Amino acid sequence: MDYENILKKYFDSIYTEVDFVKKTYAVLKELGFSDENSIASVCICRDEISQSLRSVIKHIWGEAFNLSSLGGMFFAGQTGLAAAMHHAPNVNGRERYVYFALPHIAIDKDGRLGACMRTGREEESTACGALCAFQKEMTTGSLNLSMDDIDLEQSLLKRRLLREIPYGHIPDLLELTKITQRVIQKDLEHAINTIIDKAKSDYALLTGIQIHGPDTNYVGNVSGYVVVNNVREEIKF
Ligand SMILES: [Zn+2]
Repeated sequence: MDYENILKKYFDSIYTEVDFVKKTYAVLKELGFSDENSIASVCICRDEISQSLRSVIKHIWGEAFNLSSLGGMFFAGQTGLAAAMHHAPNVNGRERYVYFALPHIAIDKDGRLGACMRTGREEESTACGALCAFQKEMTTGSLNLSMDDIDLEQSLLKRRLLREIPYGHIPDLLELTKITQRVIQKDLEHAINTIIDKAKSDYALLTGIQIHGPDTNYVGNVSGYVVVNNVREEIKF
């Protein structure tokens, strides 16, 4: 089975990273957003294999504000979000923000969840490492939920995600990644709705799961919407 057919077992539709960003740019351009009048913000994992998506976004939208934390969690908070908003172009009194929010998962050539190879390393690696570590703690039954001063982001990740997982249930890595996607979107939306001035701002929120294949990266489970003049419209993928 070729690799894209393996991905179709897990995702309804798959895009390359370039096609995902290009498609969303084309849709948003029709709605008044462009690289000249908008600021993009990115909330993805810190993992270096995730940064290709930032590079594509930078190429198409220009330099993007970085809201990222381990796992792609949104921990930049209202302060981080407000900074991104204050950096947006102001064109005739109107500001436009484009948010990309995506956790990630590796899927190897045989369809194994979480498995990837990294350049210069012989042994197999994992992605997302933060989510794999959290899942391993749940599996072994020794979940440490203390707030560790020297492991702040992972402590926050575990505490936040656990609130969304039914008691006693241990999701597989794909389910955990989908839960993470919903949490990132929910937390980002909450912060946006708390501080945005909808009278002068339009914005778009684009989400998906970044997938690391054996040769390149993809995006699956995509969804998104725009809010223009305070009216929400879903983006059709
Ligand atoms: Zn990660």
